[in-house]
Amino acid sequence: MSKVKYYYDSDTLSYKKIERRKRNTFKYASIFILGSALFGFLFVFLASQFIQSPKERALARELQHMELQYQLLNKKMDEAQAVLANVEQRDNAIYRLYFAANPIPEEQRKAGFGGINRYKALEGFDNSKIIIEANRRMDILQKQIVVQSKSLDEIVVLAEDKEKFLASIPAIQPINIEDMTRMASGYGYRTDPFTKVRKFHYGMDFTAPRGTPIYASGDGVVKRADNSSTGYGNHIRIDHGYGYVTLYAHLYKYNVRVNQKVKRGDLIGFVGSTGRSEAPHLHYEVFKDGDRINPINFYYGNLSAEEYSKLLEHASLENQSLD
Ligand SMILES: [Zn+2]
Repeated sequence: MSKVKYYYDSDTLSYKKIERRKRNTFKYASIFILGSALFGFLFVFLASQFIQSPKERALARELQHMELQYQLLNKKMDEAQAVLANVEQRDNAIYRLYFAANPIPEEQRKAGFGGINRYKALEGFDNSKIIIEANRRMDILQKQIVVQSKSLDEIVVLAEDKEKFLASIPAIQPINIEDMTRMASGYGYRTDPFTKVRKFHYGMDFTAPRGTPIYASGDGVVKRADNSSTGYGNHIRIDHGYGYVTLYAHLYKYNVRVNQKVKRGDLIGFVGSTGRSEAPHLHYEVFKDGDRINPINFYYGNLSAEEYSKLLEHASLENQSLD
């Protein structure tokens, strides 16, 4: 129960009741509520500046976790970059070098992306820098991998071609060393067996009994198997590609036809003495781009080092050729 308050009125000399007006009560209450609300808002606002809500704490933790993940990602990219750098180095210094391809210049491998800013959408955030950096590195890494992959594609083509090239060039002696009586005469100036005049002998003569097998010295296509070239008698020409042609002369018999494909080591004919020949032997020539070159440089395929040095010694003797 509220107290009743009085005041002393000096005019009437009596106590009078203090009347509280309802209007005032309402006014005071309104001011009190408004003040409280303002204070409350102020308190919450100030508190929010210094104290985090559970939700905010969770978000902050997530953000921290994400930053950590980005750092780890950067580290992983460092590792990937190092592995790729090693592959690139081997690519340039070994594979491309071996297959006679020009190394890919560093600028081409590491080229970034010019022109428009690809990362504009990522700008303007607290973590923009770290996100843009990770994106940029990933893009460069991706491009480097594409360049490297293309380089390896090129190497595969070159390697396949090299394999074909190695199979094609004349690389073995056309007669088995066991079947051969001797290496009669080499490439260079020799005495002509018929005229006894000193003249250039453009091939190698291998003495062997009539009927001794003759083998193709490299993969190729038989271009001729006839006796219509003066002096050579029955002879075979094989086109090996890459500018190489081999010629096998004075044959007794053929074992191939024109346009037949042959592999290195295939039996193509037999030793004889047809044409301008003094005794049964194989006259063997190697052409490169139309010029006859010394066949001695093409026997590394089936001779031992000792056999080869013996052959070299015989081939350099300026004796009489069998033609
Ligand atoms: Zn000869």
